[in-house]
Amino acid sequence: MAIEVGTSGSVPRIVAVRLGALLLLAGFPAALGAWYGGVSGAALAVLGVALAVLLRDTVQLARLLRWLRWPSRERLPVLHGVWAEAMYRSARQLRIWEGRLQREEDKLQRFIEALQASPNGVMLIDSSGQIDWCNATAAEHFGLDAQRDLRQHAVHLIRNPEFFAYMAAKRFVEPLLMRRSGSFGTLLLNIQVIPYGDGHKLLLSRDVTQAERTEAMRRDFVANVSHEIKTPLTVIAGFIESMRTLELSEAERERMLVLMQEQSDRMRSLVADLLTLAHLEGDPHQPVEEVVRMGPMVERLAAEARALSQGRHVVEASADAGDLRGASAELTSAFSNLVSNAVRYTPPGGRVVIGWRVVRRDEGESYAEFSVQDSGIGVAAEHIPRLTERFYRVDRGRSRESGGTGLGLAIVKHVLMRHQAELRVSSRVGQGSTFCARFPAARLVGGDVAN
Ligand code: ADP
Repeated sequence: MAIEVGTSGSVPRIVAVRLGALLLLAGFPAALGAWYGGVSGAALAVLGVALAVLLRDTVQLARLLRWLRWPSRERLPVLHGVWAEAMYRSARQLRIWEGRLQREEDKLQRFIEALQASPNGVMLIDSSGQIDWCNATAAEHFGLDAQRDLRQHAVHLIRNPEFFAYMAAKRFVEPLLMRRSGSFGTLLLNIQVIPYGDGHKLLLSRDVTQAERTEAMRRDFVANVSHEIKTPLTVIAGFIESMRTLELSEAERERMLVLMQEQSDRMRSLVADLLTLAHLEGDPHQPVEEVVRMGPMVERLAAEARALSQGRHVVEASADAGDLRGASAELTSAFSNLVSNAVRYTPPGGRVVIGWRVVRRDEGESYAEFSVQDSGIGVAAEHIPRLTERFYRVDRGRSRESGGTGLGLAIVKHVLMRHQAELRVSSRVGQGSTFCARFPAARLVGGDVAN
């Protein structure tokens, strides 16, 4: 419905126009009344006009008031004259407010979207401790329903004694580290509360489970390295002390020097392995690749195994697949770790078989496999998943005796990862083990890889 008066004149002008109109409206009937009935006739005529105007205004006012109760720009009442002007002005004001409201709503929406996108949990808590709002991450961190749990008390929902004590103490300078267990495992949350406004609180939560795990691994690693170096250093220091203070025969001195050499060799191989590992872990780039000729590689590894075995084992080798695309030095280091382990963990008289072949599969992709099989002591099933952890050994004494650093398989794992390959281990205690490095067929150069 259109608004009849669409002007926006000033109030005095509207009043003047209205009074003029009234005078004109009342003037003619008054003159007519005076002509026919004198003064009383004129008064009657003016009264009639006034009543008519009052009735019309009352109807218009009622329509305006009804509309003002739920003003809508789509459903406008039929109004005339000054009432149409009043409605027009109200409608214009309404439009301005609606625009402002829309802009504020858009702003709020963008604000909420930004908070939702935050990788941290965000929760707004009001002065009575009830949850005003929380983003999806906070809901996930605390196991809440972002809609259903609104207006609930935060400490009642996040039922955790540490959290309860933290909120009660109101000392929010230090963040709270809180563990939360569930079907998903255990989360470690870093919680920070920032008071604002009139007793309101902004709660930020961050999942630091992975960071904590990495930090624990770093601490373990430093402790392990220190321990590994401390033992040979203590032995060497003891021998030096003995050589300085005791009267020793030439034979005794010689024996001590041999033992000292053994210990320093041990430290040297530990440092060499640590450097290799640091290089592999710290290098985000793909290794520079070349075509590694696997026939000669397998022969060299077999010769190495024989040298290490010194005739105590039977060593066999075969290379039935093509060459391998990869970083030669890294692959050599990984393969020789597997070969030396096979010799070191196989008692004299045992067998070590080194192989390089293509495995064709009826389903799925074919792959190329480097394998080292031994008839040695084997590994119990529960240890197998952990063998590639740094410094993880099934039998610490045996590893050390045979010159192990506990880092060999960690190096193997990293080298293989950098070549999109994986390590498969199958083993039986007392019967032997097979360590296989599986390379995607795409890394094979030459040789037949068809299914
Ligand atoms: P280490 O220097 O101790 O040999 P590795 O990382 O090479 O360290 O191997 C980790 C552990 O895995 C070894 O200590 C050993 O217990 C076990 N292991 C590795 N290879 C073999 C194998 N061929 N036979 C039996 N156990 C093995």
